[in-house]
Amino acid sequence: MIGGGQLARMAHEAGIPLGVRFRLLADTPQDSAAQVVSDTVLGDYRDLDTLRRFAAGCDVVTFDHEHVPTEHLRALQAEGIAVRPGPDALVNAQDKGVMRAKLDSIGAPCPRHRLVADPADVTAFANEPGSDGGGYPVVLKTVRGGYDGKGVWVVDNEQEAAAPFLAGVPVLAEEKVDFLRELAANVVRSPSGQAVAYPVVESLQENGVCAEVTAPAPDLDPELAAEAQALALRIAGELDITGHLAVELFQTRDGRILVNELAMRPHNSGHWSMDGAVTSQFENHLRAVLDLPLGDPRPRAKWTVMVNVLGGDYPDMYHAFLHCMARDPGLRIHMYGKDVKPGRKVGHVNVFGDDLDDVRERARHAAAYLRGTITE
Ligand code: ADP
Repeated sequence: MIGGGQLARMAHEAGIPLGVRFRLLADTPQDSAAQVVSDTVLGDYRDLDTLRRFAAGCDVVTFDHEHVPTEHLRALQAEGIAVRPGPDALVNAQDKGVMRAKLDSIGAPCPRHRLVADPADVTAFANEPGSDGGGYPVVLKTVRGGYDGKGVWVVDNEQEAAAPFLAGVPVLAEEKVDFLRELAANVVRSPSGQAVAYPVVESLQENGVCAEVTAPAPDLDPELAAEAQALALRIAGELDITGHLAVELFQTRDGRILVNELAMRPHNSGHWSMDGAVTSQFENHLRAVLDLPLGDPRPRAKWTVMVNVLGGDYPDMYHAFLHCMARDPGLRIHMYGKDVKPGRKVGHVNVFGDDLDDVRERARHAAAYLRGTITE
């Protein structure tokens, strides 16, 4: 797996019971996954020779992030290395302009959008008629390099629209969707074409960062849930994706779903599955890229709530374990071994059960206590 973040750490963890020999390409020995994977190669994923050295002897190469240059992946593939998902699929998760064009071509519902050249063009886009009624605010996104809300701007006028163009990266304009909530439809597809769909989840973002996920999404019309799952399976098939695909969705107030973006790797909206599903997204991602039969994605409990643990003022969260574990023996804690910095994702907790309010309160309490925002 290329990339040493927490997704690689948890994928490695899922591979242990299967006896999967897991090699990692990481930037530094301190990376979340590098701390636990014994077969770690250190190097720069932007360097083709490093990638070649890393991939030699691997049956399959997969990813914890989407930032490996597409041309390097094509070169590896041409040299006979199995790259899953492949570069033609992955480019849709790397470049939001490419993704929107591809989704349009298969008729997947998206917010009104187009590439824009400069701030005046943003105003022209704002004034184009659309189902959203047009006008500012407009959402601007750099097509490459964004994550966790970085690279996304909500602008109210042409003056504010200048900032995204400074980076010199193409800019995509989108209508600002007046959504009811955000959902994610997560599916896994293998090269043989087998696919499984997890229940559609609700994801709550704070400042562009995923804060909380509820599985399944409460009060979601079963027809809309089935539509979202079918859409994600169709995207996985049409784009020939192998591995885990997260389709981030907006549920509009008038009962439609629109695709926000795609991630072709395990995803924060699937962390609940580590404790809440028969087979976790991490195990199913590994099974898929190895072309093994996929595991059951169904939930093990009526409700599972995942809350991210963000860094707070205390560098050491271990002292909080005593209270959290004593208060709630059903709590599942997953820490990533990362240095605590304010706002950084350093872990998550999962709680599952029959009563949503209870499950949610316990998960929120534990995450807040670990962070240090509450002390009792
Ligand atoms: P990232 O690559 O950082 O994950 P996203 O495209 O997912 O960027 O955007 C981050 C967040 O910004 C979304 O989760 C959503 O809350 C908000 N957002 C993105 N696009 C739109 C849009 N067109 N309308 C309204 N909100 C949006």
